[in-house]
Amino acid sequence: MNSAATGFAAIRARIEAAARAAGHPARLLAVSKTQAAAAVRGLAGLGQRAFGENYVQEAIAKQRELADLDLEWHLIGPLQSNKCREAARHFAWLQSLDRAKLVAPLARHRPAHLPPLQVLIQVNIDDEASKSGCRPGEVAALAAAIAAEPRLSLRGLMAISAPHPEATRRAAAFGRMQALFEHLRTEHTAVDTLSMGMSDDFELAIAHGATLVRIGTALFGPRRTAPAE
Ligand SMILES: *Cc1c(COP(=O)(O)O)cnc(C)c1O
Repeated sequence: MNSAATGFAAIRARIEAAARAAGHPARLLAVSKTQAAAAVRGLAGLGQRAFGENYVQEAIAKQRELADLDLEWHLIGPLQSNKCREAARHFAWLQSLDRAKLVAPLARHRPAHLPPLQVLIQVNIDDEASKSGCRPGEVAALAAAIAAEPRLSLRGLMAISAPHPEATRRAAAFGRMQALFEHLRTEHTAVDTLSMGMSDDFELAIAHGATLVRIGTALFGPRRTAPAE
């Protein structure tokens, strides 16, 4: 195996071990932002199908280069209202819906020939003013608005944990997300996805109920310079 294959196998094994210990499945989203299309192709060749991108234009360019592959693209970066049309047309999943005013434009622009856009509500679990994500108290209303749109499919929640040096503080934030997720599931039966955990804390996230982990640098190595958008 080359080094990419070895690294990929090692991450997969760690996810599987954490999922087994937690007693629920966990899926890998490979975060390919700033990475070349060739790196995505390499991972796809090893069997990875779901890729996450932060920037709409960068993602579309990569999708064109990789159009011969059957990949599942997730938008995980903050979404501006003027990008709703492209987001609705070019992604299978949107993980960063965090305000009500995006719901109607996303639904309107989702092309009829595609399945409904799979949506996660991004929650700001650490309540930091600088980060995107809605407040926990806003989830119920946002969920109802998404669930009312036939062209959108509400699948769950996403969070980015603040880089607390102490694992106990991250664990507390993940625990709050887990509680919010379990509650949302009682109200929306299609909800099955809790997206949290990145390169340096995905095992902790899985222990707190994450069903999808978003991993970039641990798979691809350091990021290249982010493009302006
Ligand atoms: C970049 C990014 C990741 C991946 O982070 P790594 O630390 O490289 O694993 C995950 N989620 C979001 C929302 C990101 O922007």
